[in-house]
Amino acid sequence: MGIVRPLLLVGNEKLGMSIFQWSIPPIKTCPGRTPACERVCYATTGHFLFAGVQERLAWNYQQALRADFVDRMTDEVFRKGCIVVRRVRPVDRVLERPSDSTARRSGK
Ligand code: SF4
Repeated sequence: MGIVRPLLLVGNEKLGMSIFQWSIPPIKTCPGRTPACERVCYATTGHFLFAGVQERLAWNYQQALRADFVDRMTDEVFRKGCIVVRRVRPVDRVLERPSDSTARRSGK
């Protein structure tokens, strides 16, 4: 059995070590972005430019597109006993199950 890469990472200097985090690439995954915020997006500067961070964001996004993503994330949150999970706002759109959007459109 190979090593399983976790979806969630434990905090950072700002968040602390008791907060888990999960993020995806900015701009292309932001449904509410504007031309102005794209130009000054905080997530296109600083540590976000590190190759390791870019690779992680791209990998997270690919995982979010998988049919088993929500089940895997839910399982990991419970297994790790996560009290707080920080995620970026655009994730709402990615995590939406097809049945959720269908139900919302039909008013159910
Ligand atoms: S992360 Fe925020 S600032 Fe950056 S493009 Fe998305 S909505 Fe705009």
